[in-house]
Amino acid sequence: MQIYNSMTRKKEEFKPIQEGKVGIYACGPTVYNYFHIGNARPFIVFDVLRRYFEYKGYEVTFVQNFTDIDDKMIRRANEENTTVAAIAEKYIGEYFVDAKALGIRPATVHPRATEHMEQIIAMIQKLVDNGLAYESNGDVYYRVRAFKDYGCLCGQNLEDLASGARVSVDEQKEDPLDFALWKAQKPGEPAWESPWGMGRPGWHIECSAMSTTYLGETFDIHAGGKDLLFPHHENEIAQTSGATGKPYVNYWMHNGFLNIDNEKMSKSKGNFFTVRDIAKEYDLEAVRMFTLSAHYRSPLNFSRDQIAQAQSSLERLYIARDQLAFLENAAKDREPNEAEAAFMAFADQSQTRFMAAMDDDLNTADALGAIFELVREVHKLNATDVSRKAVVYGKEKLLGMTDVLGLLMKKEDGLPADVQALVDERAQARKEKNWKRSDELRDQIKAMGYILEDTAAGQKVRKGV
Ligand code: AMP
Ligand code: ZN
Repeated sequence: MQIYNSMTRKKEEFKPIQEGKVGIYACGPTVYNYFHIGNARPFIVFDVLRRYFEYKGYEVTFVQNFTDIDDKMIRRANEENTTVAAIAEKYIGEYFVDAKALGIRPATVHPRATEHMEQIIAMIQKLVDNGLAYESNGDVYYRVRAFKDYGCLCGQNLEDLASGARVSVDEQKEDPLDFALWKAQKPGEPAWESPWGMGRPGWHIECSAMSTTYLGETFDIHAGGKDLLFPHHENEIAQTSGATGKPYVNYWMHNGFLNIDNEKMSKSKGNFFTVRDIAKEYDLEAVRMFTLSAHYRSPLNFSRDQIAQAQSSLERLYIARDQLAFLENAAKDREPNEAEAAFMAFADQSQTRFMAAMDDDLNTADALGAIFELVREVHKLNATDVSRKAVVYGKEKLLGMTDVLGLLMKKEDGLPADVQALVDERAQARKEKNWKRSDELRDQIKAMGYILEDTAAGQKVRKGV
């Protein structure tokens, strides 16, 4: 599999550290609010990365953190007149509600910063011991100029970076480039004991401490949105390699940004949407389909039209699944004929194309193309006389691929009893050639939200949209 590595700025063949295993760390949300549809992009995309590795037979350890202590958390707790811990608890719960609706599986581990103070403090201490960090009035800062590889990920030199660095009045740093590893407690803030007094960790250190706790000092893949490349990930490298003396991560993956109607999403522009807002208007599975319709590194533009398009693509997928279920019901236990053997060969080719696209730096857009090629072939099978073997073969290939993308999540839940009763009554009416009653029943079924078609193999009913 080829992965575009932000560190080397080219696609590279993926080679795991341990044969058959892969460790992935993805930066997760700061849990001070519902997450927004921009955040949904990395969560969906890296969930697909994990699923695809599993499809290829890897054992995956997928770690996604919750940032449950930082300035935004403290501000929110003050606004709501509650504690940081209560805010974290609430929005971690809400994360799982939205993630589930978007088809995002829980990670192998969801570590929280506040539950890893020991590891965080140990890593800072190591950096102090190595001469890479220093205490200043209860704060601890990273001595950037002492780490020779600083800038290796963002590709900038120290002088360029120094010209953009700012120091806030309450910080006493040796150099404007230095960044906080530990912050001394301010009145009213939550704090933990440390060798430098009561305080709390800076943001970057939590990811270094938690990723290495669960994945080892050097691991395979680190992922996040491209806004995190600098300074967050650059600082993670300085912290981790500075403490361990080893390379930190072998492949860095960064997703492009999601914009709204071609504008950057922002609260001040009034175009800021949480996933919870969007769920009031749209099927979140369509949002997932939309997210995967572009390559993860490309910018992605969110608009009503785009979501409507994704919704209709999704509908086509469900129709194909229903068609396969219908065919399976009517199928015969006989060997595939020539046309059906060709269908099975086509299903193989479609899977090959799907994997080639996914192997090319997770090109989900082309992978969806391969799925829709198979969808078209499904509708060419003869509904009145079809081999079960061929139908089941096609179904397994199709569902294997859609499962990698986390699509077709809604269960095949059959027809509600009242609709089924009308369908049965209509079958009887047709037997008796009572066309008037048959038409009335079709209208009633339609009014209940179901579309009925008469096919050579009998009545076919599906949920309409
Ligand atoms: P945050 O909670 O802001 O740290 O963000 C969580 C994840 O969402 C990170 O990987 C960010 O890079 C990513 N992210 C934030 N905004 C967007 C956006 N508009 N489009 C895509 N990814 C984003
Ligand atoms: Zn992080």
